[in-house]
Amino acid sequence: MGIVGTQAYAERMPQGDPKVPRPLSDRIISSITLMNLSAPMALVVIALLTALSWVAAYFLGGGTNVAPHWFYIPVFLAGLRFGPFGALTTAVISMFVAGPLLPADVATHTPQAISDWVSRGIFFILIGQFVTLLFGGVRRMSVREVHLQTKVELGTTELQAREARYSALVENSSDLVTIVDRDGTILFQSPSVARVLGWDAESTEGTSFVAAFHDSDQQRWRTIVDFLVEDSDGEMVAEWQVRHADGSWRFLQSIVTNLIHEPSIGGLVLNSRDVTDQKTLEDQLRHQAFHDQLTGLANRALFAEHLDQALRRQSRVGDELAVLFIDLDEFKSVNDLHGHTLGDELLKQAAERLRTTLRDADAIARIGGDEFAALFEGVALGLDASAAADRVIESFAQPFLIESLEVFVTASMGMALNDSGTESAEDLIRNADLAMYAAKTANKGRYEVFSTNMHSTILDRMQMELDLRHALDQSEFEAYYQPIVTLPSGSIVGAEALIRWNHPQRGLVMPGEFIGVAESSGIIVQIGAWILHQACKEFEVLTRGVSGGQSLGLSVNLSTRQLSDPLLIDTVHRALANSGLEARRLTLEITESAIMVDVPSTFRVLTELRSFGVKIAIDDFGTGYSSLSLLSQIPVDTIKIDRSFVTNVANRPEPGRLIRAIQSLANDFGLRTVAEGVEDLDQLEALEGLECQAAQGFYFARPQPATQLAELLGRDTSISVVAT
Ligand code: C2E
Ligand code: MG
Ligand code: MG
Repeated sequence: MGIVGTQAYAERMPQGDPKVPRPLSDRIISSITLMNLSAPMALVVIALLTALSWVAAYFLGGGTNVAPHWFYIPVFLAGLRFGPFGALTTAVISMFVAGPLLPADVATHTPQAISDWVSRGIFFILIGQFVTLLFGGVRRMSVREVHLQTKVELGTTELQAREARYSALVENSSDLVTIVDRDGTILFQSPSVARVLGWDAESTEGTSFVAAFHDSDQQRWRTIVDFLVEDSDGEMVAEWQVRHADGSWRFLQSIVTNLIHEPSIGGLVLNSRDVTDQKTLEDQLRHQAFHDQLTGLANRALFAEHLDQALRRQSRVGDELAVLFIDLDEFKSVNDLHGHTLGDELLKQAAERLRTTLRDADAIARIGGDEFAALFEGVALGLDASAAADRVIESFAQPFLIESLEVFVTASMGMALNDSGTESAEDLIRNADLAMYAAKTANKGRYEVFSTNMHSTILDRMQMELDLRHALDQSEFEAYYQPIVTLPSGSIVGAEALIRWNHPQRGLVMPGEFIGVAESSGIIVQIGAWILHQACKEFEVLTRGVSGGQSLGLSVNLSTRQLSDPLLIDTVHRALANSGLEARRLTLEITESAIMVDVPSTFRVLTELRSFGVKIAIDDFGTGYSSLSLLSQIPVDTIKIDRSFVTNVANRPEPGRLIRAIQSLANDFGLRTVAEGVEDLDQLEALEGLECQAAQGFYFARPQPATQLAELLGRDTSISVVAT
């Protein structure tokens, strides 16, 4: 490590100082005596000055036999630089070289002139010696000494330059250079501390650097120092949080080097860089990688991580934990119907609702499109989690208000407990997911607790989903028709198309077994389109040859999902156009709960359907909620009174009262009623007494294939007896 302290630090250190500058007088003397020059250069200078002296003597001193005093300066210099012998040589050489230029009397070479020359030369050489002694200290040096001195001087200059360079580097560096003793007390602090940590560089000396470290970093400092002190040549890189003067924490990354045994340093050198911005960016990136951007909740990866940690803790403490898997019902419909912006807003609001409702959860995450999960630790046999699930159901009973639109969305939930203690995080999430799936299938807007037998049920459902996709291609579906009769006459006024699935292995599968799976997987949209086309075509054909057949109506069921299908209107149009069935003969049945998903949008779709003559019936009426107020808002033609009212109408007063109330309401709104599921004569008579206009049920006819319906219609359209 080549770290050198600044001048100030260096001065305090016990070391020889190679950087003390030479005194000025010494420099002047060296210059005069040509000591600063190398020997060849000194000779050149002396030769030039000699030539100059002779030229000057020739022009100025003409006529005298004595050269002016300054005439001897080169000789004098030669004496100083090279000693008496050098001066003499210079004088002799100059005399012979410049002989022709000398004034006549000197040039005669008389003994007098020569002795004059020589004596004056010697005189000046002596004066030169005297002068050098007078200025003190400068001993005339041998060539070797001069050479050595020059080397020392050059070395000193280089050292000084290097020193200056290092000082500038340390002082202007954006990095922080700190020298501390092994207790962390500052011996030297570079000025950049003012910028990096807002500290006053002057007053930090003697204070503890490590005291400004975050508590969690103090122990690491001690470990590093212990390690480095044992391994005196080592260096280590570490990161710590250090308190800024403004109270904030800054992240410093330091290379710590042990230079305790280096006399010029005598401490641990920390070369630190402020990496706070880098850390913040890293944190942001990490946050992005582990959080859902839309809701700000943790994502699946982070949730799994939390769960993993909780499981590890739990295996030590022996507590239970529970995972709640939450899925929004019909979210896809809302998204398809209103667009992604509204869908996103709904997810945000749902997340917020979960946050406030599940405050006691240890982690809440969005782990998929409309799927959320919550983790409960230390739960008492799942009681806390169950209570939380109940609260979620309650909170979702309120509509979401998005862009002045009221949207009803329920949540289906599944809960998994790690009661066996062997489940992994992924197992628990999957089990909770399966339980959620079971809840959704049983009845949306509720929760189920996972049990091992769910596995096979769910696997069956998954298999069914695959089979359903296959079924459409393989034409395994069939439309059955159940006649609808008027009361009290019993004349057939139409039929309801009910789908059947001729499964290659399972035989005839009823809609109750697969409509739920088709809905949750979205295949219902294609299946719904298929039955609409099929029923319209078949019904038109089979009623064509029947007298009065053109007045018989066809009812087709629509699922919730289809209502939010943007292509629904188009599908209905095409089914009518392809079959030739008149629009006024078609009734589309929708359930109350389907309407409730999004009243305003259902209103729009139904209004448009009615605008070209299609009729609308509310199916299973009386089983949903806020049904009565709906009737005034939704454009419908028929109310189908649910079978549950009809079943007991003959033997209990309550259903009768309700049917009467529904009937009078229908009359007020000018709607037709159809009683569903009439199974016996008692029920029929009770319904007739209640003035129902139409009925449907096994008592009249079971749902049957088109050919059988054709036979039935061909025989008689007035059936008042059980047909099959
Ligand atoms: P839904 O629309 O209320 O249809 C009436 C259901 O009651 C039919 O059951 C019918 O067979 C049954 N039913 C009729 N009379 C009686 C009776 O006297 N006693 C009893 N116990 N049941 C009677 P299915 O065909 O099993 O259909 C069940 C439900 O499946 C339907 O209820 C409807 O919601 C749905 N569904 C049937 N076909 C379709 C379809 O093509 N599309 C859609 N989206 N849903 C369908
Ligand atoms: Mg129906
Ligand atoms: Mg029904």
